[in-house]
Amino acid sequence: MISDPLGTYPTPVERWPHLDRGRASLWIKRDDLTHPEYGGNKVRKLEHALAVAKKRGANRIVTVGAVGSHHVLATTFFGRRAGFEVEAVLVPQPTTPTAEAIARAALGLGLRPHPASTMATGFLRTLARAGEGTYVIPVGGSNVEGVLGYVDAAHELAAQIRSGRMPTPDLVVVTLGSGGTAAGIALGLAAAGIDTRVLGVAVSDPAIVVRGLVTWLIVQSSALVASTSRTFRLRSPSALADAAQAMLTCTTDFMGKGYAHPTSEGDEAVRIAAGAGLTLDPTYTGKTFAAALAAMAQGDVGNVLYWHTLSSAPFEPLLVDAPAALPPEIARLLR
Ligand SMILES: *Cc1c(COP(=O)(O)O)cnc(C)c1O
Repeated sequence: MISDPLGTYPTPVERWPHLDRGRASLWIKRDDLTHPEYGGNKVRKLEHALAVAKKRGANRIVTVGAVGSHHVLATTFFGRRAGFEVEAVLVPQPTTPTAEAIARAALGLGLRPHPASTMATGFLRTLARAGEGTYVIPVGGSNVEGVLGYVDAAHELAAQIRSGRMPTPDLVVVTLGSGGTAAGIALGLAAAGIDTRVLGVAVSDPAIVVRGLVTWLIVQSSALVASTSRTFRLRSPSALADAAQAMLTCTTDFMGKGYAHPTSEGDEAVRIAAGAGLTLDPTYTGKTFAAALAAMAQGDVGNVLYWHTLSSAPFEPLLVDAPAALPPEIARLLR
């Protein structure tokens, strides 16, 4: 669909027996490997967004996110490479070991930051910066374009299942931050005729907003995806949206106190994965992997696919042009 892809696809799907629990078998979709310099799920989410921005003749990308978010860094990295000016309204978040480094990397790569004191004022400031020649990317990159990147990814997985690379999973476990990744996976797997369940593990709050956003994204994107459905019945956008919704369950059980607040289960999952050679983070993937471990231990699933969304590319090269310290008005956003 995209003439000039940002990422390297297909990403591998692998069996990780050292991380099995109970009688379940763990598989991992390696979206940490979507790009050799900066991988993770934001690469696919930006594929369609940057292509649309270019097609519309935009020269500036404006986005919004937590000061230490991968989304802001990825938008800066890929947006600057594609020749756009990149601005982001940055909102506060709890300090984590990587958040400061992510913010410094984004500044070094040419991000123009606009600090805001709350998410609500951040949204308003973002809208205020929209205008002629500007393409606005919402928080987490979750708009219809972002979802379409993960619909592509779901079709990619379906092809890997059909070619015998892995059996049809009983459960797919993926992080639910702003929801675009999970929405795209559920829509794409429904359209591809893969009979499975998707568990979205909420890591950002308020949960009711996230749940609503996922539903909205599925409905908004279903019209563009329905025509690719393998099942004739699901060529109707509303039938496809219903099927995707039925496939997807969201859990808030692993969130703890909220976005970027670590949990003991998440930290334990980070430690367990590290023992098998898989690097996770406390904000997104640790909490998600804790949910995958719990689902396997519970015993009613066979093949579980954990969809890995965190870049595994070395981080130091991204810091080459980074300032040694954050300017005070940005540092203040890490609390
Ligand atoms: C952004 C992000 C997510 C969440 O993806 P959404 O599409 O916003 O739900 C998950 N994992 C990592 C590592 C991320 O950076």
